[in-house]
Amino acid sequence: MTEDIAVLGDYELDLEKAVEAILRARAGKILVQLPEGLKRYYPVVSNYIRDRTSLDLEVYLDASPAYGSCLIDPELVRGYDLVLHIGHDPYPLTPRPSSNVVFLDLEYVGTDLRAILEKLEMLLRDVGAVSIAIATTNQHKKLSKRIRDELTSAGFSVVAGPAVALGCYIPLDLRVIADAVVVVAGGLFHAISLGMTARSSVIIRVDPYTRDVSNVSRDIYRFLSKRLKKMSEALEARSWGVLIGTASQYRPQVVDRFVKLLSERGLTYYLYVAPVLTVEVLRNLDSPNVGAYVVTSCPRVAVDDLYDFEKPVLTPPEAVRVLMRGDVSEYPDSFL
Ligand code: SF4
Repeated sequence: MTEDIAVLGDYELDLEKAVEAILRARAGKILVQLPEGLKRYYPVVSNYIRDRTSLDLEVYLDASPAYGSCLIDPELVRGYDLVLHIGHDPYPLTPRPSSNVVFLDLEYVGTDLRAILEKLEMLLRDVGAVSIAIATTNQHKKLSKRIRDELTSAGFSVVAGPAVALGCYIPLDLRVIADAVVVVAGGLFHAISLGMTARSSVIIRVDPYTRDVSNVSRDIYRFLSKRLKKMSEALEARSWGVLIGTASQYRPQVVDRFVKLLSERGLTYYLYVAPVLTVEVLRNLDSPNVGAYVVTSCPRVAVDDLYDFEKPVLTPPEAVRVLMRGDVSEYPDSFL
């Protein structure tokens, strides 16, 4: 550990910012929220903070899921002087939860920038890309800035980004016309989300974890074809389950829209409230009375976690298209 950077496995975290915020707020009781996969580092964070502030500080460590800042519970936050939410940017689709929530970036440092750049430059030249937009996630902000600087030095024109994209939200800055969008993120989810909304046909995913750099435009196309298949299966459903989230994943207008749509079409529906939705939760709820589901909370659940569920589990735009148009020849242009 350096003077002010905590090392949590392959991630760096500037905890001095947390210490400053605690001292400034004269906080006596704080809550720390680490994302999934890093919760085992709670003792490291707690020890650091207590060493730098006072032993009287009460440090609570949140064991509930923190898949995104969308899950920050305003009621819970009110019970603490300060909440340190680590690893996500503020959720852009609802107002900031409260002034006592401090957002701290995590930076993944386990990758090999040189190896990534070599492959990336080669691929960009192969596809003839000159203008480039860069999207990323909270954990790769510094890496993405270095990629931008290196690409600029190599003669590419970075016309947008790096900007943080969420599966459910693509900032307007990234919706520019560029020859290619470079998505610096693990997995395919963010690349797919960009592929649906960005006005560029070439999507290159840089995965800092596996160091894979590839043109995923075809994977996105295949993914969308499979989603269309699920939408066409859902056309047969006479009864639907509407899965409803909590905190900022509770979207009452979306739920109301489905209640109205399903009623107008004379379809049966059931409203399920699920603060955390996993395949186990859905399996436990599933009934022969329900033919298809729509997830109104997090679109990632429908497209990633419940992808292989035996009944169609759709995102809101997919379900709207099925219910309103009965036409599944085209895929909607967003997940939310
Ligand atoms: S994709 Fe899901 S987990 Fe991520 S910010 Fe959006 S609602 Fe939250």
